[in-house]
Amino acid sequence: MIHKEDLIKRFISYVTVDTESDPESNTTPSTAKQWDLANALVKELKQIGMQEVTIDANAYIMATLPSNLDYEVPTIGFISHFDTTPDFTGANVNPKIIENYDGKDIVLNEDQNIVLSPDDFDDLLLYKGQTLITTDGTTLLGADDKAGIAEIISAMDYLIRHPEIKHGTIRVGFTPDEEIGRGAHKFDVEKFGADWAYTMDGSQIGELEYENFNAAGAVVSVKGKIVHPGYAKGKMINSMYIATDFINSLPRLETPEHTEDRQGFFHLYSINGEVDSTKLQYIIRDHDKGHFEARKEMIQKLADELNSQYETEAITVEIKDQYFNMREKIEPVMHIVDIAEQAMKDADIEPIIKPIRGGTDGSQLSFMGLPCPNIFAGGHNFHGRYEYVPVESMQKAIEVIVNIVKIVAKK
Ligand SMILES: [Zn+2]
Repeated sequence: MIHKEDLIKRFISYVTVDTESDPESNTTPSTAKQWDLANALVKELKQIGMQEVTIDANAYIMATLPSNLDYEVPTIGFISHFDTTPDFTGANVNPKIIENYDGKDIVLNEDQNIVLSPDDFDDLLLYKGQTLITTDGTTLLGADDKAGIAEIISAMDYLIRHPEIKHGTIRVGFTPDEEIGRGAHKFDVEKFGADWAYTMDGSQIGELEYENFNAAGAVVSVKGKIVHPGYAKGKMINSMYIATDFINSLPRLETPEHTEDRQGFFHLYSINGEVDSTKLQYIIRDHDKGHFEARKEMIQKLADELNSQYETEAITVEIKDQYFNMREKIEPVMHIVDIAEQAMKDADIEPIIKPIRGGTDGSQLSFMGLPCPNIFAGGHNFHGRYEYVPVESMQKAIEVIVNIVKIVAKK
């Protein structure tokens, strides 16, 4: 469908441009260097023949492939992000291409003895005989989510060169700053004008996701009272001990390291304490809305109980919702998931439908009025030096996009 060499060339032309985002920045995009790739993508979209190619003041890119039908079908969109995570450097990415992978260790970097091994990452064995693109061990790869961009542009390129394939209006959207949770927030859903869309931002081939966590953050502040330790009897209140009671009162097994699938958790990710005051920072996650609300209540109730026990207002809690499970927005339009599932089956891919233990841009977009399940882009081990992507998975993702377009074009 799309020549392997062309796809590899396209993908490498993206990952070799540094687009790391920065959570400390208040601008959009958060880093000026994201413009480099954004501007190049605009040029490429025009060059392959996309229409209405626009880039706004915040570097959000949109483009249209006009319908070639003489009847109306829904307008659908495909979305990816061009930034890479600030968790690991994305500067000077030097990809390696491993052809006909033999299932053994891949030496990413001889000098630094960095090895990508199926002993650590057994999913590598799924791709024996395939072409893998890896890092040189010193950077991330950026398949998250430049694989998604390469797939969407390749699919549009293919559709433009094959006008005999019938399709409705297709919209394409590329965003900055997804990795710092700001990919969707300046996305103009109305301007995009699609009935629904898919983010091409999942991992392993076959992944199809329309459920994510409900998410909140909680800051628990404990006030103590400091007095001279030698004369403290009956006077000192040590905020760290109260904080410890608080920590130990939450269910110890409902933490990230003890949960999976649809199990929610409380995650204590920071403690900052002195006698006088201690601050605990939690994130709260649960797929189930009821359980999610109950978790937030539990935090508040625990604080109240400890306050009455210590007869002080020692503990105050501040809880902020962060994002919600898109499932409630997708279920009323479940056919958009069915279409993606069918498109995978038509490409001989076994769909893997599972809840995301995190959030996606699609979850925010779904709550902004654009229902948006997530489809695999093919990469593995995101956000680090062991990131890799099989070229064959990217080719399959292109096929899935084309198949979705075909299904939607049917009356
Ligand atoms: Zn991503």
